[in-house]
Amino acid sequence: MKPAPFRYRRPGSLEEALEALAAEPGAKVLAGGQSLVPLLNMRLAAPPALVDINGLPDLDHVTVSDDGVRVGALARHADVLAHEGAREAQPLLARALSHVAHATIRNRGTTVGSIVHADAAAEMPTVLAVLDGSVTVASVRGTRTIPAAELFAGPLESTLAADEVATEAFFPARRPGEGSGFAEIARRHGDYALVGVAGVVRREGDRLAEARLGYLSVDDVPTVVDVTGLEPDAAADRALEVLEPEADIHATAAYRAQLVRVLTRRVLAAATDDAGQP
Ligand SMILES: Cc1cc2nc3c(=O)[nH]c(=O)nc-3n(C[C@H](O)[C@H](O)[C@H](O)COP(=O)(O)OP(=O)(O)OC[C@H]3O[C@@H](n4cnc5c(N)ncnc54)[C@H](O)[C@@H]3O)c2cc1C
Repeated sequence: MKPAPFRYRRPGSLEEALEALAAEPGAKVLAGGQSLVPLLNMRLAAPPALVDINGLPDLDHVTVSDDGVRVGALARHADVLAHEGAREAQPLLARALSHVAHATIRNRGTTVGSIVHADAAAEMPTVLAVLDGSVTVASVRGTRTIPAAELFAGPLESTLAADEVATEAFFPARRPGEGSGFAEIARRHGDYALVGVAGVVRREGDRLAEARLGYLSVDDVPTVVDVTGLEPDAAADRALEVLEPEADIHATAAYRAQLVRVLTRRVLAAATDDAGQP
């Protein structure tokens, strides 16, 4: 199908983009187009205008500093995945990104776009949530930073205002004693997961002082469960108290619950192993 008619704007600066969004109520930002264009083509979205941000300068950065990794709004999934410094500073990024779609989609789709698109079946919103990262957004009113815990409002719904552009995502760096793991089950590699788990643990001496697991494809929003101090089976029980796996055409609720159990154990083991010996 073809999209409904829309006005197309391609601003050359962030200021122009913010003014265009403020002037066009209901306009949508176009980044990699890997989620938005299919929605337009299927007429599941019919915005009056698109504000294409691909002409904006200085937004394609992946910057690593002591505190973490900053990913600009025009950095593609493939840029982040290939970034050696980002992989070292926060290994969970590359672990999860290798499961995001296929190479052609990773070459166009942006990591920031994926996060603000807020699909609970996508990997990067859950990674941001489990790492306690944040997103910086700009509008004609100024800039603000939204912590991941306040970012995901519902299915495909973020707390960005309609006229806000996300300029950068921040992923905190791996801390001393930290280990992470990622696993998902999909029908084929690159498909959206039936269930996925991103885990972060932190060792203090010979005990795990912290253990957090983020789940994708089991709830309306990326969901983080604190499993500190719990053995793997108890951690899975805790996750299933919080999550409500549902049936759809891809999997029954019982199968999803079983995947939660299996992946919880697998990811906790991998993350603990990654944290190393005391
Ligand atoms: C066949 C296929 C398979 C896929 N499989 C997976 C998968 O397994 N896992 C996965 O995570 N993703 C998958 N994707 C989605 C892909 O990762 C997208 O690239 C991503 O979800 C959206 O990023 P984008 O840059 O393409 O955003 P766009 O499609 O351009 O935009 C998506 C939405 O976010 C908004 N938006 C984008 N950027 C900004 C911004 N900077 N500020 C404000 N709003 C913004 C847009 O207005 C729109 O509402 C798949 C896509 C396809 C087509």
